[in-house]
Amino acid sequence: MAPDSKPTNPQNALQTWDYDAVLFDLDGVITPTARVHRRAWKETFEKVLPEVAHGDQTEYRDDDYVTHIDGKPRFEGVRDLLEAHDVDLPEGSHDDPPGTSTVGAVGNMKNERFNTILDNEPIEPYPGTIALIDRLKGSGVSMAVVSSSSNAKKVLAAAGLENVFEVVVDGLVVKEAGLKGKPSADPFLEAARRLDVPPSRSVVVEDALAGVEAGRDGDFGLVVGVARVTDPDKLREAGADLVVSDLGELL
Ligand SMILES: [Mg+2]
Repeated sequence: MAPDSKPTNPQNALQTWDYDAVLFDLDGVITPTARVHRRAWKETFEKVLPEVAHGDQTEYRDDDYVTHIDGKPRFEGVRDLLEAHDVDLPEGSHDDPPGTSTVGAVGNMKNERFNTILDNEPIEPYPGTIALIDRLKGSGVSMAVVSSSSNAKKVLAAAGLENVFEVVVDGLVVKEAGLKGKPSADPFLEAARRLDVPPSRSVVVEDALAGVEAGRDGDFGLVVGVARVTDPDKLREAGADLVVSDLGELL
C-alpha cells in the first residue's frame, strides 16, 4: 500500500487496511501493565532519588515516566531518568541485587517491584485489543508482540494470551540477538523478519513515544498510536499515522 493511501480516520481504518502483519507492543497496548510499570518505577525512584540526587532533583516528577522511561529497555530508562535528575551512578552489572548504588541495582529494584505487583494482581487484557486480535485472527494477518520488557512472556501468560502470537520479540530476545532496544526500530524489524513479512506490509501498534519513533524510523506500512496516558499530539509528532484512545475504535 502506497504511503499516500494510509488510512487517516480510525473509524473506517480496518475496512481499508491492506497489511499482512500487525506488530503489537504489550504493556499499555494489550495489557494494562503500563500502569503496573509506571507504579513500580514511581515507587523505585521515590526511594532512590532522595538518596542519590540533590536539591530539587530529589523529587520524582509526574512527566518523568512518559518523557524518560516508557517503552525503553529497563536499564536505559534508569540511565536516562538519572541523567535528567543530574545523577551519575556507575553502570554496575545487570545482575546487581536490587539497591541504589548502580544503574543495574536500580533497574533490578524496579523489576522486583514489578514482579511483586504482577504476582499479586490479576492482569485483564484491554477488551478493545482482544476484539481487534479476534478480528485479525480470522483474516490471515500474522501477529507478533514486540516489547522492551523481559517479563513479556510472563505477562502474556498471566493474561491468558500465551498461544495467540506467532512471534514474541521481548527484552530477552533483543539482548540475545544483540539488537538495540526501542526507540531503535530493530525489535520491530526483527519481528517482521521472523514473520516473513516486509516492514512496508506491517502495522506497528504502540502507546509509548519511544515505540512510535521506532515504528516511524523502520518505515513500516502504518504506525498506530494508542493514547491512554500519552498526549495524542505527542504521539503524532513522534510519527503515529493514526491515534486512538482504544483499539476498539478501529472496529
Ligand atoms: Mg507500551
